[in-house]
Amino acid sequence: MALKFYNTLSREKELFIPIDKKEVRMYSCGPTVYDYAHIGNLRAYVFTDILCRTIRYEGFKLKQVMNITDIGHLTSDADSGEDKMTKGLLREGKELTLKNMRELAEFYAEKFKDDLKKLNIKMPDGMYFASDYIKEDTKLIKKLEEKGYIYKTSDGIYFDISKMPDYGILRGCVSSSKESKSRIAENSEKKNPEDFALWKFDKKIGFPSSWGQGFPGWHIECSAMSMKFLGEQFDIHTGGIDHVPVHHTNEIAQTECATGKKPSARFWMHNEHVGVAGAKIAKSDGSFLTLNSIIEKNINPITYRFLLLMAHYRTKINFNWEALEGAETALKRLYNLYQNLGNNVGNIHQEYQNKFKEFMEDDLDTPRALSLLWDVLKDENMSDADKKATVLDFDKVLGLGFSAKGGSASGGENKPLPINIQKLVEEREKARKNKDFKKSDELRKEINSLGYEVKDTAEGPRLHQLS
Ligand code: AMP
Ligand code: ZN
Repeated sequence: MALKFYNTLSREKELFIPIDKKEVRMYSCGPTVYDYAHIGNLRAYVFTDILCRTIRYEGFKLKQVMNITDIGHLTSDADSGEDKMTKGLLREGKELTLKNMRELAEFYAEKFKDDLKKLNIKMPDGMYFASDYIKEDTKLIKKLEEKGYIYKTSDGIYFDISKMPDYGILRGCVSSSKESKSRIAENSEKKNPEDFALWKFDKKIGFPSSWGQGFPGWHIECSAMSMKFLGEQFDIHTGGIDHVPVHHTNEIAQTECATGKKPSARFWMHNEHVGVAGAKIAKSDGSFLTLNSIIEKNINPITYRFLLLMAHYRTKINFNWEALEGAETALKRLYNLYQNLGNNVGNIHQEYQNKFKEFMEDDLDTPRALSLLWDVLKDENMSDADKKATVLDFDKVLGLGFSAKGGSASGGENKPLPINIQKLVEEREKARKNKDFKKSDELRKEINSLGYEVKDTAEGPRLHQLS
């Protein structure tokens, strides 16, 4: 068997063979840190986490790099609207300075990292603020200038898309300036409607450059940083589906025109969106759901990871609370089945493992992998110890936290939870959700009398046996 991934560039599933056999190189577009991440954004990182874990599970060494956008991203991807970081500073009543901008970015970058931890997402090997790489941006723009791809207007330096014959190849429609006229708001100084900013002038605050003080355009940071950390050509570039028509299209234009090498990334992989009741959740439209909205409802955040894995990453999801509660019940059932397997860890069941690999190798088919997980836990012909070993093996990729529920090879303190205790804990959770605190207190006492103590944490109830 071999890994196959859907490549947006070819619109096909392709066999994945790394450029350099020793190490796979991956770049993931990171968050714009002017606010908390919404639950849609987090799908992009659960997707890349599953991708990274699968690549490593298959035995490859991997280097994953992610940018953190702390400058240059306007509310529209196509150079119109307000600057998102400025918007964040205004919202928080802070003066518009580069120092404040950085502080705002650092605050929300930390919140973002907390979210990753709560979702069991492994940190990328490198995570870098865009504002630390302005020199790399300007060097790249200089290179494009020398090659004749750029021009100046009264508000910035622009990339001339008519100089690149296959501009737009990623979105499957190579642009002629006539075709694209209706797509992006007219700016009378632009030569072609889809020309995009490489550098935007700003006399009040900004960074110095030979063209004038200002900020890099949003797209240039990803070209400059991916080149710096991964080289001019690398294996995989990831992001949400919204990045295809503008951000990634422009990144390809910048990198490939500067280096003269195609393709800049072999595989372009994109996750579909999460919507709420059919609508897109956009951070710039005010209210949005965050991971904290889930935690506040006393739902373990891993449940959201589980919900996402129930759908293929290229399938659109409409988020609703009923679906999340359904996922919560199912995940608890899985944990319960697992916790009743005893302490011994046996051997990984080869046939199940082969199937698991087959599903994950087929463009990360997590829905089928999850249904296989149920099959393992319900298999009556398998020993408990072998079930445990097999579940722990799958969980290296799924990351649902089974090992924390008991089952390190050494056994130890994690004894399986008796079913009657699990039931009481679930009942108490229900009572708490319904704000029936009297009942939840009574249930706590009953759990205590049976020799267990329940503690409420941000990640849901935690139990330990009283000595
Ligand atoms: P941003 O913080 O806006 O730069 O976006 C961070 C990541 O979230 C990018 O990869 C986006 O493509 C992705 N993204 C944005 N909105 C959604 C959504 N509703 N569902 C899934 N991914 C999204
Ligand atoms: Zn990017």
